[in-house]
Amino acid sequence: MIYDYLIVGAGLYGAVFAERALAHGKKVLIVDKRSHIGGNVYTENLEGINVHKYGAHIFHTNNTNVWNYINHFATFNRYTNSPVANYNGELYSLPFNMYTFNKMWGVITPKEAKEKIEEQRIAANISNPSNLEEQAISLVGIDIYEKLIKGYTEKQWNRPCKELPAFIIKRLPVRFTFDNNYFNALYQGIPVGGYTRIIEKMIAGADIKLNTDYLTERESLNELANKIVYTGSIDEYFNYSLGVLEYRSVNFETELLDISNYQGNAVINYTDSETPYTRIIEHKWFEFGKDENGNDLLKTIISKEFSSEWKPGVERYYPINNDKNNDLFKAYKELAEKETNVIFGGRLGEYKYYDMDQVIDIALNRANSEFI
Ligand code: UDP
Repeated sequence: MIYDYLIVGAGLYGAVFAERALAHGKKVLIVDKRSHIGGNVYTENLEGINVHKYGAHIFHTNNTNVWNYINHFATFNRYTNSPVANYNGELYSLPFNMYTFNKMWGVITPKEAKEKIEEQRIAANISNPSNLEEQAISLVGIDIYEKLIKGYTEKQWNRPCKELPAFIIKRLPVRFTFDNNYFNALYQGIPVGGYTRIIEKMIAGADIKLNTDYLTERESLNELANKIVYTGSIDEYFNYSLGVLEYRSVNFETELLDISNYQGNAVINYTDSETPYTRIIEHKWFEFGKDENGNDLLKTIISKEFSSEWKPGVERYYPINNDKNNDLFKAYKELAEKETNVIFGGRLGEYKYYDMDQVIDIALNRANSEFI
């Protein structure tokens, strides 16, 4: 054996695990079927702008350990995510906070806002929310549900809100203060120089083979290493033998524009059901419209984000964690437990809607138990 670990997938989970393995003197080979490292956190510098090629990635965490760890590989700027919702030309603050309630109902005080929501919750007769629609109405009332949640969510997931799990909407804070910060996180920012550099630093010292599809070359690749870390989709590893796990995918239409400011914010969500895209990202605002030397960028790059059902051959983005898929995942997990020299990890390996900080946390924990 030439390597201690073969890591399949050069995304965040694979990179963190590789970094820890290398720090413990292990020999590591990383393979990725794409032509670049970084998985979906990959950023590419175009015209001085770090473009989030697989959608907006805003680092945020409450985990001090994770924050300290990631800060070894980058300096983070003070970017705070404050998306704006555009509902048929009406603009609202996100997440749901006093600015949103004031614009929606004209209420002035937190007490008035709470009374309005309570009145709408009672009218909808929901006591024990069991799906996304009921959860949303009981948190923010019917008006906000209809203007800011329903259209966006049904475009993103292509399923009625009644058929989606409630936990998805709990990702968003509801605040009775004038605070537009999208995340309830102690730490937040965008890495100066982009995410790809973080991954490069983490895996420096490993051998890397890009454009290499592990699953089509698994016999020869397996012979190279004692142990495998697999971060691809778990159903594909087992040749879909028990069935196919469902995902949502995302496509982007990206344009370079010869103007300096297209929408005045990094993220604008289109929350109506008619606009075909879910949001527009204007990448330069993640770094305050400046290049790395602090100069104002004269052009801008925007990406319209379109949601679609995943099918073989396209990229996976969001696991659809409903009961049917979660049960199927459990069955695959039982198979995975029998593969004693393979570690399954990450959003695809564990079929979980993880944020970046959660992925780092689970990879660090897995590495800790491996290298003690
Ligand atoms: N969401 C919404 N309206 C918005 C933004 C988000 O209804 O303007 C809901 C939607 O159901 C979405 C969920 O909140 O799936 C989580 O959004 P988040 O921004 O966390 O998703 P991500 O950035 O991971 O795509």
